[in-house]
Amino acid sequence: MAPGCKIFLAIGFSLVLTLSAMLLMSAVPGVEPVPRYWWMVGVVLPVLISALVSTVFVRQSESIRRLNAELLDAYSSLKRTAETDHLTGVPNRAAFDLRVAMLQARRPGWFLIVDIDHFKAINDCNGHAIGDTALVAVARAISAAVGPDDIVARIGGEEFAVYLPVGSNAAALWLAEQIRAAVAALRIIGSDGRHIPLAVSIGVAGGPGLSVTSGMESADRAMYRAKQDGRDRVELHA
Ligand code: GH3
Ligand code: MG
Ligand code: MG
Repeated sequence: MAPGCKIFLAIGFSLVLTLSAMLLMSAVPGVEPVPRYWWMVGVVLPVLISALVSTVFVRQSESIRRLNAELLDAYSSLKRTAETDHLTGVPNRAAFDLRVAMLQARRPGWFLIVDIDHFKAINDCNGHAIGDTALVAVARAISAAVGPDDIVARIGGEEFAVYLPVGSNAAALWLAEQIRAAVAALRIIGSDGRHIPLAVSIGVAGGPGLSVTSGMESADRAMYRAKQDGRDRVELHA
């Protein structure tokens, strides 16, 4: 209800209450009728007092309502900041663990660890700023390659994790391959004006009954096998 309406209602309420009391008093047998002067007072005083008091209360309740809305905004923005990786804009590790734990209970699935190959060399040859640009581009490529139900996060310097709520390793491997190909197709220009080739090694693990911790560990082991086998590839946890 609008603040003006609340004040108007309060004035009306106190006016009706005061006049009803005065009418009742006039109706009592043997009591002298209320003089005309008091009827004037019975109208003016409740209007003045209730207008004053209700204005103060309505203003206070409006400012509490505004403060509540600001607090809710601040809470949502803090929550977003706490859950987001500030460079790439994807969720961070803490948010990943939380979201996966919630989704996994309903939809068991597969874990991917995606690690950029030879990323240190990209930084060393082109500078940290171009390295950052590459990280943002990889995060976007991974996010674009997966579906709306899949969870993507940056879990370390140049490492990303993906949770795919899919039923088979074939579907997980297919999506991992889509991610690998999407990163390989990125066109990042280095400090010398030349194209920087980007590649990722991806470990895949999952299946029913696997906890977030053991799923991530298994995917990590598979990712290291992908590194040992020559990088720029997808490996399934044995
Ligand atoms: P490998 O193929 O074995 O994974 O080699 P690598 O060079 O990718 O791995 P390594 O662990 O040796 O290096 C990771 C590098 O990632 C080192 C670090 O400087 C860089 N890095 C980590 N976080 C950031 C970041 O936020 N921005 C930039 N530009 N670089 C980062
Ligand atoms: Mg790494
Ligand atoms: Mg790496």
